[in-house]
Amino acid sequence: MNSCISNGLECRDNLSDESPYAEFNREIITCEGTNGLVLPFPQPPQPSQQSSPKETTLHTRLLEDTSGFHEHRIQAIKSQGKLQSQDPTLRNAKLGYKVESLLNRMSNWTRIKKKSEADTPRSLAESYGKRGHVIGYGAFGTVRIACKLDAEDPTRTRLFAVKEFKQRSRDSLIEHKKRVISEYSISSSMYHPHVVTTLDLLQSTKGASCQVMEYCSGGDLYSFVLSVGQLEMVEANCFFKQLLQGVEYLHEMGVAHRDLKLENILLTQRGKVKIADFGNAECFRMAWETEVHMISGVCGSRPYIAPEEYVDKQFDGRAVDIWACGMIYMSMRTGYHIWQTSQKGRDKAFEQYVQDRKKETGYKPIEQLETIECRNVVYSALDPTPARRLTAQQILLSEWVRKIEVCDAGNEGLDVC
Ligand SMILES: [Zn+2]
Repeated sequence: MNSCISNGLECRDNLSDESPYAEFNREIITCEGTNGLVLPFPQPPQPSQQSSPKETTLHTRLLEDTSGFHEHRIQAIKSQGKLQSQDPTLRNAKLGYKVESLLNRMSNWTRIKKKSEADTPRSLAESYGKRGHVIGYGAFGTVRIACKLDAEDPTRTRLFAVKEFKQRSRDSLIEHKKRVISEYSISSSMYHPHVVTTLDLLQSTKGASCQVMEYCSGGDLYSFVLSVGQLEMVEANCFFKQLLQGVEYLHEMGVAHRDLKLENILLTQRGKVKIADFGNAECFRMAWETEVHMISGVCGSRPYIAPEEYVDKQFDGRAVDIWACGMIYMSMRTGYHIWQTSQKGRDKAFEQYVQDRKKETGYKPIEQLETIECRNVVYSALDPTPARRLTAQQILLSEWVRKIEVCDAGNEGLDVC
C-alpha cells in the first residue's frame, strides 16, 4: 500500500486574500515548496541584552517547593494563537488513504457518535451552547469558545472549543469535505491525556462543518512563551516531557502530527499539555500493518520544519515530529526561534548550528542548557540526519527526561509509577 502522501511542492501563497485578519498578511512567508505562517516572535538577544524571565510574574505562575514538586498557575488567555495556515493542495493528495484510516478506526468513532447522538440529533447550539468569542483562527477555520449549562448541575457551565471549517476559494466542495473528514477522523480517534479530545462533528445552522473539542483555558504555548519571555527550566522540562508523552502516543497509533509548534500545544491553567490541530496529520501505518510508510511534501510552519523535508522525496514522519519537539524546547528555553528555516543556504543561523554542533565547543544556545544529558537529547532531536534522531520513546527513556519531575496536573490520567 502506498504511503500517505501530501505533495507540499504544490503549495502556493494562498493566504493573502483569505486571512480573516489584515495584519496576518504581513506575516505570510512563502518559500519554495511550503507556505508557512510565521507568527511574530522575539529575535535572539543581542550581546548587550540579557534575556531573563519576567520575575514579577514568575512567583505567581510557578510554585515550587524544596522537594522538587511544582504547580503551574497559568492565567486564562483569550487567544489560543493563530491556527496553522496550510495550502489545501496538501490535503488533497491521497485523501482516500486517510478516509480509509477513518474506517479502520470506526469503532472509536462509533463510540463518539453514540455518545453524542444518544437521542435525537440536536443542533450545535443545543448540544454545546452558543458560540462566543474567537480563541483561534487561520485559513482552515475559526475556533470559538462555546458555553453550555451542565445538564446534571445547572449551577455549572461547560466550555467547549468549536472549530468552524472554512471552505477555501480554491477547494471544491468535495475537497473541502474530504479535508474536514480527514482531520476529524484522525483527531477523534486519539484518546490520550496529552491530546486535545475531539468530541463531535456537526453542522452549524448556516451549514458550516464544526468540530467540537475540549477547551483548554490556559491558552496555547506560543502565547504563554510570548507573555513570559522565557520559560524557567522547571516549566519547560515539565511541558517537554508531557509533549513527548503525547507524541509517543501519536506515533504508536501510526499518526505523525506534522505541524507541532508552540501554537498547537495547548495548556490548562494548571499546566497540563495538550496537542491540538490535526489538520496536517498523516497516517504512516495502518492498524493492521507493521511496516512504516514514508511520507513526503514540505508541511508545517517554517521554523519547525525539519531539513530533510526540503531535500528528500520521502522521509519518516516520526522523525519530523521529533525535530519540531526539539525546536519547541529551544523556543521555550530561549524565548525565540533559534533559526527561521532549516532549508540549506537560506538561514545563516541554521548554517552556524550545523557547523557548531560538530565542534567541541558546540552550539551556544544549546550549550547554555544546564546538563550534558539535556544537551545530548536536544542535539539528537535536532540532528540534521533524521536516522540519528532519537524516537519519542527513546527520549522518554533517556536519563535526562526520566529525571524530569512532572507536576500532578501533568500526570493526571497517566499511569505514573
Ligand atoms: Zn508542571
